[in-house]
Amino acid sequence: MMIYDWSREKVEKYGTRIAISLGDEHINYVNLELESNRLAGQLIQTGFKPGSRVGLFMEKTPKTLIAMLGISKAGGVYVPLDFKSPAERVAKIIRSSDPALLFVDNHSIHHFQDSLHIDSELGHIPWVWWSKNELKYADDNPPVFNYDDIKSQLNIPHEVVRDENAAAQILFTSGSTGEPKGVVITHKNIKTFVNWAVHFFKMRAGERISCHSPLHFDLSTFDIYGAFASGSRLFLVPPEISLNPKQLSHFILDNNLNQWFSVPSALSYLAMFKAIPPGGFPSLKRMIWCGEVFPLPALQYWMKNLPDVQFTNMYGPTEATIASSYYTVPEVPEDFAEIPIGTACEGEKLLVLDENLDPVKKGEVGDLFISGEGLSPGYWNDQEKTDAAFIHHKNGKGSSEIIYKTGDLASLKKDGFIYFHGRSDYQIKSRGYRIELGEIEAALGQNEFLREYAVVPVLKNGFEGTAIGCAYVGTGVMNGDLAPDLKKKLTGKIPGYMIPHYWQEYEQLPRNGNGKIDRRKLADAFES
Ligand code: AMP
Repeated sequence: MMIYDWSREKVEKYGTRIAISLGDEHINYVNLELESNRLAGQLIQTGFKPGSRVGLFMEKTPKTLIAMLGISKAGGVYVPLDFKSPAERVAKIIRSSDPALLFVDNHSIHHFQDSLHIDSELGHIPWVWWSKNELKYADDNPPVFNYDDIKSQLNIPHEVVRDENAAAQILFTSGSTGEPKGVVITHKNIKTFVNWAVHFFKMRAGERISCHSPLHFDLSTFDIYGAFASGSRLFLVPPEISLNPKQLSHFILDNNLNQWFSVPSALSYLAMFKAIPPGGFPSLKRMIWCGEVFPLPALQYWMKNLPDVQFTNMYGPTEATIASSYYTVPEVPEDFAEIPIGTACEGEKLLVLDENLDPVKKGEVGDLFISGEGLSPGYWNDQEKTDAAFIHHKNGKGSSEIIYKTGDLASLKKDGFIYFHGRSDYQIKSRGYRIELGEIEAALGQNEFLREYAVVPVLKNGFEGTAIGCAYVGTGVMNGDLAPDLKKKLTGKIPGYMIPHYWQEYEQLPRNGNGKIDRRKLADAFES
C-alpha cells in the first residue's frame, strides 16, 4: 500500500467528514482526494518524472497536505523545508535534494525571495505558486503553475508508482559536519509504523487528532497519516502558538482533542505554567511524546491532573521512521523513577550491543541499534554516511540483517524494558530539536575573532531539557564581550533553536589527559 491510499479509502465511507482543520479553514475527505488527484494530474501534464523530489517551501496548512498527497500520487518524493531557518541553510538543503520543483505559498514567499538573493542558482528551479492569493512575480521567473490552475484537471485517482519500497519523503536532520543529512523514508516505512500505531492506540474514525510538530519533523508524519488511516480529523496547531502554554491549553480544550502527540518540551511548558484547566481536558484520551526525555516533574504534573488519560513514551530516530519503541506509563511515577523507552513496536527490533556487536548482559549499558521494517534505506545521496550508520550484521541464525546505530546508550533491564542512558556522541535534543553540536561548531568556525571554542550540552534540572553552552577563547583582535556579536553572526547561519543559550569566555580551554578539550568540565562549569 502507498501513503495516499489511506485518505483515498475514506472517501466512500467518510467522504463528507472533515479531514484537516486549521482555524476556520477545513477540508473534507472528498475534497482532499479531489484536489490531490487534480494536482497529480497537473504534475503529470507538466512532464513530472516519478522519483523526482519536490521541495515544500511552505507553512503547515491543509493545502500543503494536499500537495504531499498529490506529489505522492504523481510518483514524487516530497521534501518538507523549514523555510524559517536561515536562508543559507535552506539553500544547502534545497541544493542537496536537487528538486524538480519547489512549492511556495503566501506564508513563505518572502523567505523564498530572500533565498534567491543568497543563492541565485535556486532561481533556476521551476516553482509552483501554491496559494489562492494573487502574486506579482518577476517576469523572467514565473511559476510553472498556480493553485487555481489545477481546477481544469479531471478527478482521476492517479497512482503513478505502486512500489512500497519507493521513497515517499526526505527529512533533513542536523549533520555533525555542518551539512544537514537527508533521511530517505519509504512508503513501507510509514505504513509499518502507522498501521501498528493506529491499532495500538485504538484510533477510531471521527476522532480529533493534534498535529503540533512541523512538517520537517517526523512526528507530524504519524499525525497526518495516523489521522487519514483511522478516518479522523487532524487539527493543525498554528506554529505561532506551538510554545505558548495558555494558547496550547485552549487549543486542546476548545477543539476537544482526543489525541496529543508532541515533543516533551511543549508539554513541559504547560506544566511549568500549570496550564491544565481546572476541569482537565475532558475529551483527551491519549497523550504521546517522543524525541527526548520527558522531565519527571512535568510528567508527574500531567498524570496527576489527568488520571483518565493514557500516557505513552515513544522512542526512535528519524532513520527508523517516527518511533521504534513504546512504553505506556501505568501510574503517576514516584520521584526519581526512571521511565523506560519500553519495548519494540511491531516490525521493529531494538538491540543493546557491545563494541563487538555482541549483546551485552541484562542490565548493562551498551550501544542501541535498531533493525526492522522502519529502517530508512539510508541518507540521500550519501553512501559513505549510510554505510557508517546502517551496518550489515550477522544475526546468529546465519543470515545477515541491517542494523542502525542510533548513537544512544541503553540497557535492557530485568523487567524486560529498555532504558535510555543518553548519547554516546555530540548529538543533543534541545526543546525537541535534534542538534549536532558539531553543526554549531562548524558555523562558529567561520569566525576570525575566535581562537578556540567548544559547544557543549548544559543540563538544567526540573522542567527544562538540555540547553546549549558555548565556551570560547578570543584571538584578541576584538575587545570586550564577544558573545553578542557571535550570536548575531550565528543567527544568519543556523536556526534560532541552535544558538547557544550560555556563553563563557576562557583564556584557555581545559584539556583532558589525551589533550582533547575537556567538554565534561566545560559542561559542569555551565551547570554549576
Ligand atoms: P530524531 O531523529 O529527531 O527523532 O532524534 C532521535 C534521537 O532523539 C534519538 O536517537 C534519541 O537520542 C532521542 N530520543 C528520541 N525519543 C526519545 C525518548 N522517548 N526518550 C529519550 N530520547 C529520545
